[in-house]
Amino acid sequence: NTNIQSILDQLGVKTNNAAFSTGSIWGGDSNARSLESSSPVDGHLIASTKVSTDEDYNNVVLKAHEAFLEWRTVPAPKRGEIVRQFGDALRENKEALGTLVSYEMGKSLQEGFGEVQEMIDICDFAVGLSRQLYGLTMHSERPSHRMYEQWHPLGIVGIISAFNFPVAVWSWNAALALVCGNVCIWKPSEKTPLTAVACQHIIAKVFKANDVSEGVCNLILGDREVGELMTKDGRVPLISATGSTRMGKEVGAAVGARLGKSLLELGGNNAIIISEHADLDMSLIGAVFGAVGTAGQRCTSTRRLIIHESVYNAFKDKLVKAYDQLRIGNPLDQNNHVGPLIDKDAVAAYLDSIEKCKNEGGNFVVEGGVLSGAHYASGCYVKPCIAEVSNDFKIVQHETFAPILYLIKYKTLDEAITLQNGVPQGLSSAIMTLNLREAEQFLSANGSDCGIANVNIGTSGAEIGGAFGGEKETGGGRESGSDAWKAYMRRQTNTINYSNTLPLAQGIKFDL
Ligand code: NAD
Repeated sequence: NTNIQSILDQLGVKTNNAAFSTGSIWGGDSNARSLESSSPVDGHLIASTKVSTDEDYNNVVLKAHEAFLEWRTVPAPKRGEIVRQFGDALRENKEALGTLVSYEMGKSLQEGFGEVQEMIDICDFAVGLSRQLYGLTMHSERPSHRMYEQWHPLGIVGIISAFNFPVAVWSWNAALALVCGNVCIWKPSEKTPLTAVACQHIIAKVFKANDVSEGVCNLILGDREVGELMTKDGRVPLISATGSTRMGKEVGAAVGARLGKSLLELGGNNAIIISEHADLDMSLIGAVFGAVGTAGQRCTSTRRLIIHESVYNAFKDKLVKAYDQLRIGNPLDQNNHVGPLIDKDAVAAYLDSIEKCKNEGGNFVVEGGVLSGAHYASGCYVKPCIAEVSNDFKIVQHETFAPILYLIKYKTLDEAITLQNGVPQGLSSAIMTLNLREAEQFLSANGSDCGIANVNIGTSGAEIGGAFGGEKETGGGRESGSDAWKAYMRRQTNTINYSNTLPLAQGIKFDL
């Protein structure tokens, strides 16, 4: 594909199927195993990279640590200036990087561009933050004493990311970690190594132009075994990991065993409550985009619709008609609504979930299936489907990363909220209602138990200004906006005595 080749060239990604390398940051050992990246769009092999070996990893950690000793002394606003330039470099490369995201991961071109825009937005946010990073001052109980707190960098931040946001999640972490004075080691998903290599090139150029060590941001490639090198390594004080709940439990245990810090962003099982007071046309857009956007492969994808019995049939009919109009196909063609799943394993998991749902008594009102034919040669294109279910089906309690939408009927709002909360995950949630009492109850302490709760907006998509993350099996981490930066720093409480005596706290007497 000549278009993709020229994009790889523009991004500085060499595709001679040999190891990628700038310096010795990744893929240094030519005997290392190779890691192939194929596009789910057409099934073609794009390129192969090399899996980082234990030795590569150790070199990266040493280089990162060395870079940290320097970087932590750079004033935070100056670190922000580097991040500002990184944001500008992303603006210049938005089209190329967004297209590569779309081709390597399979999301629509618009969503590929949107993902790069999110990277730009978090850079802007981080630049402002670099002049803030506020600590509090307190009044000491002792005379002529001053108390305050300050925030210091942690050191090396290990970032493990999922395939579905192959570049944005790294930048959410990296932009904040960098202005906070940390250095990063990124292990991207083994399914999307090329977009990561492209990002490393973009940031390395900015570092070079500013005489900053490339060791401030590092890349290691490979599967979970490479990730485990970091999770078990006491030299990496914070691991920020995005992916499945299964992965989060393993990472949380490995990092916890060495009492490190972890920031976990895991699976969701997101529901929209469609009330009897909902604007049904608006609800339709929110529900359909939420369920089929990114082919149902967002952590915030809408998996369940909890619909009031009085509007259930009318809304179901609207959904069936809307699904009938969905165009499935090449995500680089902007006429299509739904692209492919990431790979054939994901297709198998989708089919398995449909079968399990049927075995539990699910009634499919829009049938699923795998598409075949010349336009679907990768074998990764599936039909978005809809099933009427009960919330307690095992399969409904589980996050299937595919466009399967479950419909559940309710009578009272209390019941709807109990259903919405009645899953192990707690990421995103929404209510569609024009009734103020319903909206406020949904947002109250006895409302949604999720990290994200929306009114008259679907579950999917978020702005970088707010803290992003979820409760329960979603892992409890918060990234991006608000005060999420605090996870990337250590708090230090300082007390300064400027008197001539040494009074002890709590009035304790100790005379010599
Ligand atoms: P995954 O769990 O298979 O892999 C995610 C990453 O973790 C990969 O880089 C993988 O190599 C690594 N990994 C897996 N096991 C590991 C281990 N034991 N130790 C160290 N690293 C390990 O997830 P995926 O299929 O790439 O992504 C889909 C999942 O990600 C979904 O569950 C989705 O909800 C979740 N997700 C969550 C968020 C969020 O912010 N909450 C965002 C995006 C995706």
